[in-house]
Amino acid sequence: MKIIFIGTGSGKTSLKRNHSSFLISTSKYKMLVDAGDGISKALLMRGIPFNSINGVLLTHLHADHYSGLASLIVQMKMNKRKNRLDIYIHKDIEKVIRNFIFQSYLFEERLNFELNFVAVKENIFAAVCNGFEIMFRQNSHLNKYEKYDHKKKLKFPCGSFLFRIGDENIFYTGDIGAKKDLYLFDDFKLSTVISEAAHVKLKDILKFYDTNKPQKLLLTHLNDEDISGSLIPKESRRKMICAYDGLEV
Ligand SMILES: [Zn+2]
Repeated sequence: MKIIFIGTGSGKTSLKRNHSSFLISTSKYKMLVDAGDGISKALLMRGIPFNSINGVLLTHLHADHYSGLASLIVQMKMNKRKNRLDIYIHKDIEKVIRNFIFQSYLFEERLNFELNFVAVKENIFAAVCNGFEIMFRQNSHLNKYEKYDHKKKLKFPCGSFLFRIGDENIFYTGDIGAKKDLYLFDDFKLSTVISEAAHVKLKDILKFYDTNKPQKLLLTHLNDEDISGSLIPKESRRKMICAYDGLEV
């Protein structure tokens, strides 16, 4: 299993970091986790062929996490993709993404490859391929918006995910709302944790680390000011690292 960080930046566009995204790979499957603004260029920068990606998972509908999907599909078409592309998305916003693609004039009969939507549901493992499954659990990142949806037209799924690969449990807390979201997968023994560091205090991440003791904890979703490593106190740097674009683990 290998993880390559494609972007480790926050929602603020930066010349130092691309928006948050990583590629998680096994020998059989490559899944891109989040595809925000500029994702195609970010993949080019890392030398990752667009058509080597088997599936894209979108955690939620903030532009720095999903808005690059249509342009990524265009790149795949221009690179003569033939293989199916899986799109993992919460069942409540599958329609939104289908429309986004359709309204970008990306019609399946012109693509020459299949778009296979995999609707993820709360607390149920979705099979990716043999020995690789993912589970969605709702976090509180988008709760603050519900009061603005006066006509109750929107849904607000925002996922933290567990990637179960062989006997490894990798927990990704993309964008979260509160420190309690760090504990969403407490019922699993976590080998690797990838946590955002923009909406939660470092002291709360350190506390979580001390309680759960994952083998590895990587911080992402960082601002330019968070120069690699400087966020983390010296004594914790052995097991906790600030990710950077291009980091492979
Ligand atoms: Zn967000």
